[in-house]
Amino acid sequence: MTNARSHDLFTRAQALIPGGVNSPVRAFKSVGGEPFFAQRADGAYLYDVDGNRYVDYVGSWGPMIAGHAHPQVLAAVERTMRDGLSFGVPNALEVTMAEVITRIVPSCEMVRMVNSGTEATLSAIRVARGATGRSRIVKFEGCYHGHGDSFLVKAGSGVMTLGLPNSPGVPSALADLTLTLPYNDFDAATKLFDEAGGEIAGLIIEPIVGNANCILPREGYLQHLRELCTKHGTVLIFDEVMTGFRVALGGAQQRYGIAPDLSTFGKIIGGGMPVGAYGGRRELMRQVAPAGPIYQAGTLSGNPVAMAAGLATLELIQAPGFHAELERRTHALCDGLEAAAREAGIAFVTTRAPGMFGLYFRDGAIESFDDAKASDSARFNRFFHAMLERGVYLAPSAFEAGFVSSAHGDAEIAHTLEAARAAFATL
Ligand code: PLP
Repeated sequence: MTNARSHDLFTRAQALIPGGVNSPVRAFKSVGGEPFFAQRADGAYLYDVDGNRYVDYVGSWGPMIAGHAHPQVLAAVERTMRDGLSFGVPNALEVTMAEVITRIVPSCEMVRMVNSGTEATLSAIRVARGATGRSRIVKFEGCYHGHGDSFLVKAGSGVMTLGLPNSPGVPSALADLTLTLPYNDFDAATKLFDEAGGEIAGLIIEPIVGNANCILPREGYLQHLRELCTKHGTVLIFDEVMTGFRVALGGAQQRYGIAPDLSTFGKIIGGGMPVGAYGGRRELMRQVAPAGPIYQAGTLSGNPVAMAAGLATLELIQAPGFHAELERRTHALCDGLEAAAREAGIAFVTTRAPGMFGLYFRDGAIESFDDAKASDSARFNRFFHAMLERGVYLAPSAFEAGFVSSAHGDAEIAHTLEAARAAFATL
């Protein structure tokens, strides 16, 4: 496997782009080595500028649930772009997008399109604060909600990877308004709300944590948070940027049967284009400008080409049985990886939801951020590189979830498991 072209590009990039990348985790800092540069992608595969091919379990960090360069998505983009790239006045595709999202996710009675998951979460807490007149928010250790100031407190994944508890540049006056809770701890949440419930505008959570590897909620945990928020007049926000339209058509809220007050989305609804959205109860969303006084805007929000890519992707995932099949493939992958590790005598466990998974080099249940942190990350890093050399691209950090798409067929999974057997043997 050669990487001369990627190496050359990375050298040039490092002189001009901080760390050589436009988003930190891409730099491979956590796993070591240098990133490869993409030439193109197709289905389950990424091809780099040196001609290497990888089965891709990152999927552009989530959007590519139907595989890369899906012909229906590309056709929708091509058709739409011929009419112009951006109008700055409303267009019909935005209305269709709002209709589709509110139909698939019933807790979203109204929705506003933005350009990233970060914008969606920032806007959602502004609505929570504006609507309640309160300032404090609650987030969970290891949950990542984008790079907004208020969220860069114990924020998981990219931030964890760099070993930063919080980011410099976030004023303490603002960080102090963010309270953090351990995920899956019923009593800690009850206690915090007993003490400060009346001051908390919003509680934001990844209902399945995908930024501390992959941690599923304990039975009844999300319901417990729903009840606490209802009792204390706090806006419950599900950050479904990662889980939305993935772990079920209607996201984690459908899977667990909980209706949050607000939800945030991204990734899949853009089909690979820069898109985010937030939505929820009509009474809250009506307070957003220009319907109400809570300001939020965007030059490119609702961009027609982005809407076309997102709508085409949403159409694909509404095919009957799409998520059941995604779940079957995720299980096949995770069961196969666990079996391969067992054969090699390696302590290893997976967590999974349809279309997403976590890999841990340790035994036992994974229910908290501390459980996730106890994984042997040095071993993960060696495994990551051993897989990469064998043409399988896993997320380049022990704190990121992996993604399976509908393009990951039996052949790709078989290839992955063969690579894993060889990789485990090298550990
Ligand atoms: N929320 C969650 C759960 C995410 O996983 C991410 C990104 O990975 C974000 C928010 C931020 O989204 P974006 O990177 O589009 O700003």
